[in-house]
Amino acid sequence: MQNNTDTTLITPIAPIATATHGGRAKCLQRLVRLDLPVPRTVALSFQAVKRIAAGQMPDIDEVDRQFDPGALLCVRPSSEDPDWGGPGAVLNIGMNDQQYECLSDSLGARAAAALYSRFVQAYATHVARLDPDVFDSDSDEGPKGLQRMLRAYEEEADEPFPQSRPEQLKGVLRSMARAWEGTSARLLRQAKGAPADAGLGLVVQEMIPGLGQGECGSGVLQLANPVTGLPQITGRYLSQSQGREALGAGAEAIYLEKDPRGPSLEELAPEAFEALKRDAALMRERLREEMQVEFVIQNGNVHILDGVRVARSPRAAVRIAVRLAEDGIIPPQEAVMRVDAHSVSELLHRQVSPTAARDVLGRGIGASPGAATGRIVFNAAAAQASAARGEACILVRRETAPEDVRGMHAAAGVLTEKGGMTSHAAVIGRGLGLPCIVGASELTFNTRDKLLITPERRLLREGDVITIDGSSGEILAGEPEMLEAALDDAFQTLMGWADAERDIGIRANADTPADARTARNFDAQGIGLCRTEHMFFDQGRLTVMREMIFAETSSGRAEVLARLLPMQRDDFIQLFKIMEGRPVCIRLFDPPLHEFLPATRTGQRELAEALDLPVSDVTRRIEAMAEYNPMLGLRGVRLGVTVPEIYEMQARAIFEAALAMRESGEPVVPEIMIPLVSARREVELIKARIDAIAATVRAKHGEEFDYRLGVMVETPRAALRAAEISPYVSFLSFGTNDLTQMTYGLSRDDAGRFMSDYVRKGVFNEDPFHVLDVEGVGELLKLGADRGRGAHPGLTVSICGEHGGNPESIEFCREAGFDYVSCSPFRVPVARLAAAQLAI
Ligand code: PEP
Ligand code: MG
Repeated sequence: MQNNTDTTLITPIAPIATATHGGRAKCLQRLVRLDLPVPRTVALSFQAVKRIAAGQMPDIDEVDRQFDPGALLCVRPSSEDPDWGGPGAVLNIGMNDQQYECLSDSLGARAAAALYSRFVQAYATHVARLDPDVFDSDSDEGPKGLQRMLRAYEEEADEPFPQSRPEQLKGVLRSMARAWEGTSARLLRQAKGAPADAGLGLVVQEMIPGLGQGECGSGVLQLANPVTGLPQITGRYLSQSQGREALGAGAEAIYLEKDPRGPSLEELAPEAFEALKRDAALMRERLREEMQVEFVIQNGNVHILDGVRVARSPRAAVRIAVRLAEDGIIPPQEAVMRVDAHSVSELLHRQVSPTAARDVLGRGIGASPGAATGRIVFNAAAAQASAARGEACILVRRETAPEDVRGMHAAAGVLTEKGGMTSHAAVIGRGLGLPCIVGASELTFNTRDKLLITPERRLLREGDVITIDGSSGEILAGEPEMLEAALDDAFQTLMGWADAERDIGIRANADTPADARTARNFDAQGIGLCRTEHMFFDQGRLTVMREMIFAETSSGRAEVLARLLPMQRDDFIQLFKIMEGRPVCIRLFDPPLHEFLPATRTGQRELAEALDLPVSDVTRRIEAMAEYNPMLGLRGVRLGVTVPEIYEMQARAIFEAALAMRESGEPVVPEIMIPLVSARREVELIKARIDAIAATVRAKHGEEFDYRLGVMVETPRAALRAAEISPYVSFLSFGTNDLTQMTYGLSRDDAGRFMSDYVRKGVFNEDPFHVLDVEGVGELLKLGADRGRGAHPGLTVSICGEHGGNPESIEFCREAGFDYVSCSPFRVPVARLAAAQLAI
């Protein structure tokens, strides 16, 4: 074996450990520089470890000489990012027969045998690669057990257990270096984001026993609660124990601070406890991070073995970052960068406590974040009855339809068998901030018999209590412990800092006054999409709507629409009022009309009664309106062109609402958006009608007002032909839900069934309804924006599909020069933070 004497690769921790020695080495070096009581440590660089794995062992005697000859050593991994994992630490290197004798005198034979046995066990299995079963005995079996283990080693390895510390160290270093190069370790860390050539450093450290006379033991301590993020000393301490590895669950750890429930380190060793707190505070300040301190106390003296970043829940991440900035330790911009934008949406909702026990019944797609507990109900009427009794319920449906919206309003959460990220339940759920799981097809939904059956054949009936976690997609039995939403001061402060940095607008998709209020609470800069059809699902209006659909003639339709007009006008006035002058973009009616008609016989009978028509007439009309592919059928602007009265009523309502606002002294410039456009002529026809309505309203009221007309780009053709469309309008807004559906030829309502297979097999990197497909759909977006702006400089360009709230998609829109993104109200804070992080 070739010796490598390049000493720059093996570095005593002071004075040099560079980025090429890994995160742990770097952190230890900083602790040494802070004069903290860190035991002597030597760091091996990535390159040194790579050579060791390739069989080129450096001069280990040189490493060994750095330590006291009688000391025991440990080796720990030091990769660039601790999350990438690495081989487990090996402790007590240097343990041999002679050390055993010495330690038997000082600690007693039993404790010495335990240390030696534990090392033999680790060495035999990890270094000598002997059969682990042979060494699987309890290391606390005392001196006899130790002798048995040493004999077993000799038999299995055909040589006595090595007694020389450098030789042991060589073996340990080699086995750890090779473990890092193994295929499974490589795949595992790459799955966690490590690059293919990620290196491993190793840290050799002198061990402080944590055993012996006086107060001895080991523990971990942190100054912040990892779940809440609030300042609080938390951690564990175990007397007479050796380092983090001995602190596993079940050990009889004692409290750190005084605690009425039992003994504490503060009482046992007050000076050590004070010193530890001081050290932890210094680490927080100088490492500019909330750190967990790993420590050993030896005869009352504190030794710091390591410091790692405190693992934290999303809410703790916000509070910790804000407090570090408020304490002047990091600048506000850095606090903004430190919070994962994806995780923020969890703060806006209740969630299952990370420490709660989870009895998982099944899984689906987490389509609207937050957790909700309630009794199972299988239809909208039962949900409303439950709400009337003041009882929380979870609405369980195979899929939802407009008729279920009232049930969704009444429920605490929604669970569906079918659907994906942009299915009806998902979109409405996110809009309402209602936790929602869709596509839970591993469960059997027998809504007729009111049964939900889990893959393990557990039966759940109406009235049984379940919890849905709309963030993870897990369906849980019963009511686990919850954490409340955390829209606290820290969150508001962070968002304020984020807004100061952001350079792309953030609006909300809001259909109702409640949505608009949520949007305002989350500081959306306007409404980017108001789906007006949602205003017609209200029970009172649904009947009028159906009457309009059943009207035989244009004048009959106009008569019913005249009754809907004041309701719509009031809707818009409310939205304008809530948004206080911020822009409101109203999309004209979009869905196929038959979505408003009852699908069941009972519903049809009720409708026949309400309209005073024979049931057969109603059924026939409904059947005649059925389409083979309604999403590509008579909807959007196609309705506007063929049944113009609806758009005319809506335009009139919008203009009259704008005039009403003017009277109350708050002028608004409404934005009107035409959905599902694919041809220039569609825009020309609708624009002419809307301009004519505007002229009529102006003439009638004798008042001027402005409005902005826009086109929703949802078909590939509209993107391709943007140059001939844009001169007619003030803005283009990309509806990426439909645009994704049509670009892929992939049903947004059905893709959930196979999407996980597609992503697992690498056909799609991500669900394209969730994260914008920048290569395909994105190319249409860029092309549409460029062609649109080329023909109409100053054109406003935005996106209002569900992608608008997704950080990766926002990055794309920002780079493409979009003016704003619009997303569900509850995703507005995520979008604000993500956009700020892109600008910093
Ligand atoms: C879209 O298609 O992207 C969109 C926003 O409209 P909807 O989801 O209502 O079809
Ligand atoms: Mg659409």
